[in-house]
Amino acid sequence: MTRPRTPRVRFAPSPTGYLHIGGARTILFNWLHARQSGGTFVLRIEDTDQARSTDESAKDIIDAMRWLGLDWDEGPEVGGPYGPYSQMERLSTYKEYADRLVAQGKAYRCYATRQQLDEWRNRLPADQRHRFVYPRLWRDKTESDWLAGKPYVVRFKTPLSGQTIFHDKVYGDIVTSNSEIQDFVIMRSDGIPLYNFGAVVDDALMDITLVARGADHILNTAQQVLLYEALSLPIPELAHLPMILGPDGRKLGKRDGERYGIPVSVMQYKDLGYSPEALLNYLVRFGWSYGDQETFMRSELVEYFNIEDVSSAHGKFDLKKCKAICQKVLTDDRYTPFADYLRQLRPFLIGRGLRNWDDSLLEKATRLIRPRSATFVECAEGIDCFLRDEPVFDAQARAKFLTPAAAVHLRALSDALGAVDLFEHEHIEETMQSFLRSRNMEIKDIAPAVRVALTGRGTAPGVIEILAVLGKNVGRRRLEAAARLAEEAQ
Ligand code: GLU
Repeated sequence: MTRPRTPRVRFAPSPTGYLHIGGARTILFNWLHARQSGGTFVLRIEDTDQARSTDESAKDIIDAMRWLGLDWDEGPEVGGPYGPYSQMERLSTYKEYADRLVAQGKAYRCYATRQQLDEWRNRLPADQRHRFVYPRLWRDKTESDWLAGKPYVVRFKTPLSGQTIFHDKVYGDIVTSNSEIQDFVIMRSDGIPLYNFGAVVDDALMDITLVARGADHILNTAQQVLLYEALSLPIPELAHLPMILGPDGRKLGKRDGERYGIPVSVMQYKDLGYSPEALLNYLVRFGWSYGDQETFMRSELVEYFNIEDVSSAHGKFDLKKCKAICQKVLTDDRYTPFADYLRQLRPFLIGRGLRNWDDSLLEKATRLIRPRSATFVECAEGIDCFLRDEPVFDAQARAKFLTPAAAVHLRALSDALGAVDLFEHEHIEETMQSFLRSRNMEIKDIAPAVRVALTGRGTAPGVIEILAVLGKNVGRRRLEAAARLAEEAQ
């Protein structure tokens, strides 16, 4: 009995843009599959579209993968026994395989010029030209017909009848009638392979056992299966993964993302202060679930994930749900221990121009603001007022709540708080209650003005919690300073 092979999976991005969240979900599933099986995760850069591929894009993809903590065992920067891992460094290999197919009569050189093809296309009525199919002009020619010195492409000789069938682990058996597949180009005239051919040669030579990629590639797979068969190469297992769609049920491109306020590039999430653990917890839901469990430690994902359980239903991105999951993960010490949280928060505080803060004050403020924040950016915003000498006032909140009428209460409250010896939640609360009783008021009558006085903002936690963090002196100083501002407001 042969032992099952150790899985080798890959992510094979074309570096023509930023890493999309859909790509990140695909990476995650491949990575989980490799990590739980002791397998190998390969990163291969498919940079054959020379007009659109850029180094910046490859860097963005690599940076995003590093930020997500989804490391690869072979590929750029780490090397490996199956390299090189960029397709433009493998051109001689594709040529060798293309030549072999031509020699075997399974592919052929096509010298048809663009002009000739356009003439053929223009014979069709205008509304059908987009359905133009290559009319197999060079299919039956032989070597003696070749035009010495002229450019040619290599086309695959697709069987004229029959069906191509493959089994997809997620979508089941997929049957394509060969008559629907034209004699597609596998090598361009400049010696650069087209995607289907390059991917097949590389997946085979890199010993990939399972190809798991977005469901948008199902349509390419019949061509790839034909190529594996023609090359007598083993076909890896195939798993197409459901798509992440926009709220309208359509493909979630950058523009659509902007329309719905949904960031689509992974690095945008980094800049917006999401934690990688949190984002991965939202993305893993696109195609996989584990009972009712909503959030997972990375080790749990590695343990529970099973490629066999991936479902075929596409999912719509729901920003509210994403934020809720991210908040749950980011506020839970199990996922992000407090010290780690502070370490990750730091750059966002510095980004706001904050320097030289008192660490114990930062810790107290973080404990107060963290549970309300889905991102580090939100947390840094909420903490800002605690770390500055004076709060930065939100103009609207100030105009609305710091009124002359409020000034009286702010001053009186400061006086009352002067009598609190042990300035802790319980004692502040007692004093606050008796202060309110003596003035025949309820907390809601003064909380908005007090909150603006203490933090500069209209939305912030409860005033007693804020006072407890600020401490007696700073708290009273802010109430009095705000009272002065409020008096000036008339
Ligand atoms: N380079 C292809 C892409 O970025 C890879 C698809 C595949 O995984 O085979 O879409």
